[in-house]
Amino acid sequence: MYKIIDGKALAADMRADIKHSVELYRNEYGRDVGLAVVMVGENSASAIYVRNKIKACEEVGIKSFAYYLPQDISQEQLKEHIKALVTDDKIDGILVQLPLPDHICADEILRLIPAEKDVDGFCEENIGKLCLGEKSIVSCTPNGVMKMLERYNIPVAGKRAVVVGRSAIVGKPMAMLLLNADATVTVCHSKTVNLKEECLNADILVVAVGRAKKITADMVKEGAVVIDIGMNRDKNGKLCGDVDYEKVKEKCSYITPVPGGVGPMTITMLMHNALQTAVMRR
Ligand code: NDP
Repeated sequence: MYKIIDGKALAADMRADIKHSVELYRNEYGRDVGLAVVMVGENSASAIYVRNKIKACEEVGIKSFAYYLPQDISQEQLKEHIKALVTDDKIDGILVQLPLPDHICADEILRLIPAEKDVDGFCEENIGKLCLGEKSIVSCTPNGVMKMLERYNIPVAGKRAVVVGRSAIVGKPMAMLLLNADATVTVCHSKTVNLKEECLNADILVVAVGRAKKITADMVKEGAVVIDIGMNRDKNGKLCGDVDYEKVKEKCSYITPVPGGVGPMTITMLMHNALQTAVMRR
């Protein structure tokens, strides 16, 4: 019988812990933990993400500074804005909501954020440290997945882990975290020749592809742990993951639902990272 990994409940527990730590921080240093959230233009999905992030800040007592910048802002103006946040002592972490408009070079903007304010864990220094197995700020979604495995006492060391997806912000850091936790890791992507065969080897299967119900029951080993990072809309507009949940769950020992699985953990880990940047800057 499969068990559901309840990301919503776990996120609520973690947020209570973070709230307590944020309070201790305020008492000790006499200042708030400050997170800057920068959004450019009017992407409706981004607006929802930003709203949720600001709400999460309120919930845990982190002071958010939201900047809604116009769609037609120039590269230079945006750079100046970010540079001002970098030197602003009230700001511990800087988050630039992606995607940025087409005329903006996102890489150049993100490179302005120094490692100690990089709450997303996207910068070269943080990624490099992750690869070296050193303490760093880690990308929120994969870090949230590791917390889920940990809290449900799911062993990782010595297990075969398969990560489907190799993006710089999800798949690659996910693979690195699993490797650092002593799993034997395979990373699959769009050029993988026999995806089904690779997935069938997985004791732990983590999927971050962005294709609704891509992983079907015949691709999953009996008793596997399945973590579904994907967030898609099905043909009825309903939120669904990359895994065909209803059929796949019957083969699993543990599985994450969508919604209510990895999603709530991502924003919680952002709060965790914001607190971590504040602590590291003291
Ligand atoms: P990207 O589009 O950046 O990466 C997708 C990856 O999937 C790529 O590595 C791509 O391979 C691979 N891929 C695409 N098609 C196939 C295929 N047919 N077979 C095997 N691999 C394939 O997406 P992200 O990593 O940013 O996000 C992945 C999913 O996770 C999305 O649904 C996104 O919405 C969701 N997400 C959810 C979050 C949450 O909080 N729950 C947070 C972040 C993302 P290649 O490299 O060869 O192109």
